[in-house]
Amino acid sequence: MRIGAHVDPASPLEEAAARGAEAVQFFLTDPQGYKTPKPREDAAALRESEVDVYVHAPYIVNVASPNNRIRIPSRKLLMAHAKAAAELGAKGLIVHGGHVGQGADIAAGFDNWRKAFEYAESDGGLPLPILIENTAGGDNACARRFDDLARLWEAVGSFGAGFCLDTCHAFAGGEDLVGVVDRVKAITGRIDLIHANDSKGGFDSGQDRHDNLGNGKIDPELIVAAIRAAGAPAVVETPGGAEGQTADITLLRERTGR
Ligand SMILES: [Zn+2]
Repeated sequence: MRIGAHVDPASPLEEAAARGAEAVQFFLTDPQGYKTPKPREDAAALRESEVDVYVHAPYIVNVASPNNRIRIPSRKLLMAHAKAAAELGAKGLIVHGGHVGQGADIAAGFDNWRKAFEYAESDGGLPLPILIENTAGGDNACARRFDDLARLWEAVGSFGAGFCLDTCHAFAGGEDLVGVVDRVKAITGRIDLIHANDSKGGFDSGQDRHDNLGNGKIDPELIVAAIRAAGAPAVVETPGGAEGQTADITLLRERTGR
């Protein structure tokens, strides 16, 4: 079980080495834009590296949206990123659970998720696992509250969807971290990756503001316990560059005994 960090995409392997990370996660394009990823010069190096690679889809991807002009490009962008991530030998493509917006029926969001997987199947199939991540906020979010997550999984579970548990998002989203892994696994049957982040925002604040472990509102032992219980690799998406993230990785290694 590996521990790593979300890093700048310019030279992920150098960033991994600087942190002693066994896994790296990065964006392939501007996370706020609808850009199709370009082939990377370091694709072979990433594929052959001992470091496990994860790719995070752009934040603007929202396949749950009832708005055609968001949902359709999101679907296509997700597939383009899946193909590009597979070229790098990535273990998974992480994408936020999305939201339907104020006043909209969340049921449409779950159905749109199902359609996104159907679209992927019709476009040659997903070349790597899609890991749906829980979110801290979002109006009528599909993967903030776990009762909604259960409805999402009824729609996507049969497509082999994976799950990424973000500890900051769960806490700020209003889900107790005590026993969180068992509650998620009862719904999804799996946790493929942990985003091990502390939270600047309080419990149920809805704020997506990551902090270094022990600096925020979460007891670090709850994050350690979640990693242990999940038996999954963990990536820190914390501030402070190589220095801040190395301290977080070291804390996790010491306390999980990895
Ligand atoms: Zn995350």
